[in-house]
Amino acid sequence: MDSKNTTRRSVVKSIATLGAAGLVGTSNAASMLALANKPASVKKSWDAIVIGAGVFGAWTASHLQAAGKRVLLLDAAGPANAQASSGGESRMIRSAYGADAIYSEMSLRSLQQWKRLSTDASLPLFNQTGVLFLFQEMVDYARQSIATHEALGIGLDVMDTNLLRSKFPQIDFSGIEFGLYEAEFGALMARRAVQHVVADFVKAGGQYLQASASAPAKGGDGHSLQVNGETLNSDLLIYACGPWLPKLFPELVSTRLFVTRQELAFVAPPAGNGSFAANALPGWADFNGGDLYYGFPDLEGRGFKIAHDRHGVEFDPDSGDRRVSSASYDSLRAYIKRRFPALADQPFIGERVCQYTNSSNGDFLIDKHPAFEDVFLVGAGSGHGFKHGPEVGRMAAEMVLGSKTSPKPRFSFKTKQETHHRTVV
Ligand SMILES: Cc1cc2nc3c(=O)[nH]c(=O)nc-3n(C[C@H](O)[C@H](O)[C@H](O)COP(=O)(O)OP(=O)(O)OC[C@H]3O[C@@H](n4cnc5c(N)ncnc54)[C@H](O)[C@@H]3O)c2cc1C
Repeated sequence: MDSKNTTRRSVVKSIATLGAAGLVGTSNAASMLALANKPASVKKSWDAIVIGAGVFGAWTASHLQAAGKRVLLLDAAGPANAQASSGGESRMIRSAYGADAIYSEMSLRSLQQWKRLSTDASLPLFNQTGVLFLFQEMVDYARQSIATHEALGIGLDVMDTNLLRSKFPQIDFSGIEFGLYEAEFGALMARRAVQHVVADFVKAGGQYLQASASAPAKGGDGHSLQVNGETLNSDLLIYACGPWLPKLFPELVSTRLFVTRQELAFVAPPAGNGSFAANALPGWADFNGGDLYYGFPDLEGRGFKIAHDRHGVEFDPDSGDRRVSSASYDSLRAYIKRRFPALADQPFIGERVCQYTNSSNGDFLIDKHPAFEDVFLVGAGSGHGFKHGPEVGRMAAEMVLGSKTSPKPRFSFKTKQETHHRTVV
């Protein structure tokens, strides 16, 4: 098909062809059977195509749809698939961000949207476990978080070690001076939540297709892209491809986005011991003198989750080795022995290797492609993006629809540097 001569009508034909060839996608989860667009039901045209059904793309599609747009959402391997950054069991939602009040506000607004979504779901999407931060001493991050929470009116309890010990006896608070506790926040069931956003999008008339898309080219009618080998056109293209963005746009972002290998593991709580359950242990993050560990209670019987929040080595999301290294197991075990004594000799029962897509400092990317008028890039979740999916999607949709013509400076291309130096935590 000659892209120059492709019209909306031929786009419809292409998708009907993809469907007839059995390429219209379904998700891997039973709850996603609703996504199985029948070929006949795909005979529509659309105003925007969103490429990537991770948390950013799913919420962008949802907000564009809510604004009355007909949207096609594509994903090469399914919403929140196992290689995607959004494909994990759980992601923390918290509002403490030190002096970065922009993220505290986004988190609060996103929490409301996650809660609304969770209300309608048959299985929980949000677990209000609370989130506990541990500090060895008063540091700027804690001081600024307290000030930001006061200014924004978000609940935050400062707990001394006596209170901490009485509330959370399963934690050894040696060396800890105080904790900050956010009672309203907790854990999002990540994969399930994204799949729910996409299922709702389809139920409301959106189009979802499991297909791999190319970078854009100038087309006769808007812009064109290759989708499973067919040429499609759309006026508006939004690429929310997480760690694949540097592969799709190497000249633009490969020196500005740093994809790193991240490992985490699950530990079996002792038999009959309920103190690591979601109603007894909050999500937690130990600042540990700047060498941060974090984790979750035993959610839905998957085990106590623990991760070392240090940026790993460069990682390829297609071919990278997804086995946790023995050195990482050793460091997780040493930390567990120190802080969670009842788990000291408990077995690891699961592992995951995922990737962060980091910008230079940890700020997101929500901006126009500099060379294409109506092509947008949304990404750089930087290890903390999941919770913000609803607000990132809203901001991206506003930019796509033209109501906000320039990005927030911190989310623009211009501010993305080539040196990896994390400041947003
Ligand atoms: C181990 C780990 C722990 C984390 N913990 C937290 C946490 O506790 N709290 C928090 O808020 N955040 C956390 N994050 C960060 C958060 O998960 C990410 O920022 C977020 O999931 C990024 O979402 P995304 O939509 O940008 O990317 P992804 O979820 O990777 O989605 C991109 C999608 O694009 C698709 N795609 C790519 N290329 C193409 C193509 N050419 N055609 C079609 N589809 C394509 C992929 O298949 C994929 O589904 C964590 C991340 C990791 C890895």
